Amino acid sequence: MALNAQKELMQLKPARNQISSDFLKVCLRLRNPGDPYPMRLTGINWRSVFASMLGRACEFDSEDSKAHQPSQGSFMLLTFTGRRTCLRSRCIGILLAGLSWLAFTFGVHAQTPPQRVPILVYHRFASSVNDSMTVRVSTFNAQLRFLRERGYQVVPLRQVVSWLTDPSTKLPPRPIVLTVDDGHQSVFNELLPIAQQEHLPITLFIYPSAISNASYALTWDQVRKLKQTGLFDVQSHTYWHPNFNIERRHRSAADFQHFVRSQLDLSRQRIEAEVGGRVDLLAWPFGICDDELMALAAGEGYIAAFSLEPGSVYRHSRMLALPRFLMVDSYGVTGLAHLLGEPSPQPGLSSDSGGDR
Ligand SMILES: [Zn+2]
Repeated sequence: MALNAQKELMQLKPARNQISSDFLKVCLRLRNPGDPYPMRLTGINWRSVFASMLGRACEFDSEDSKAHQPSQGSFMLLTFTGRRTCLRSRCIGILLAGLSWLAFTFGVHAQTPPQRVPILVYHRFASSVNDSMTVRVSTFNAQLRFLRERGYQVVPLRQVVSWLTDPSTKLPPRPIVLTVDDGHQSVFNELLPIAQQEHLPITLFIYPSAISNASYALTWDQVRKLKQTGLFDVQSHTYWHPNFNIERRHRSAADFQHFVRSQLDLSRQRIEAEVGGRVDLLAWPFGICDDELMALAAGEGYIAAFSLEPGSVYRHSRMLALPRFLMVDSYGVTGLAHLLGEPSPQPGLSSDSGGDR
């Protein structure tokens, strides 16, 4: 067990019969095959821990999802803790603890395919933080190193959409997705060289009214060059990035629906005409979406849409309101680790050498 994780566990050490969610989450996170199970920590009422897990394992496996779907590991855990209720002697209780340890260990190996996929969304890149949506290049590189060290593999968003719709689609054990909204110039100047060096698949969500028009935005020529690398997919962020909450207030119901349809349709038509490829993925401007908007998007042929609701994507997530983690520079590596439920990097590791401020 990593030293920092052990410390964290001890800080969360439960009082008798009072098991906190944080404590159990750390226990579940420590299910590494080569690590001694934290039962060697003294002063912890492990019987209460396992009893509490019986009721909560499903909850932890869904973690940042509203829906609950237990993993294979949890089913095993439930099996073993369920048997415990039939056993009365303390010795058998200890045996049960050992079996639970095996369940944890085996659960790690049984947890393929993955149960969830985090999707990150960036906006702008620069050498310094010019505004709230700019992430420094040094921060981004440090985050990539951290992800690599933790065994994450960047996969195309399209592959995750396939995974959501087709049970036969496979993903690597620790997938993660990179998306970039708005089509800022820095995607070409700063991100492209990194993407080529690291072979990163990235999905851009652009709004065509800005392209080759606004001074801060990419040109169509640049968007085409990005697409031609084979690394960048280009998808819709509506036509001119409206705030649908404001537009709804100023329009009749029929006019609002017409407006939304035109935003979704014009965007797709323009991107397909300028760049080619199929446009059927949508990033909601400002992350704003609701049932009416989702129905309109479905009617316009979009098969998946993405919000800014923080959380990972699960197989049962709503296809037209898939969550993403909005990345800001101040997260650095430590913040990213926290979002992913990973232990923070140890001081001195390469991924900890830059990015945080
Ligand atoms: Zn945007």
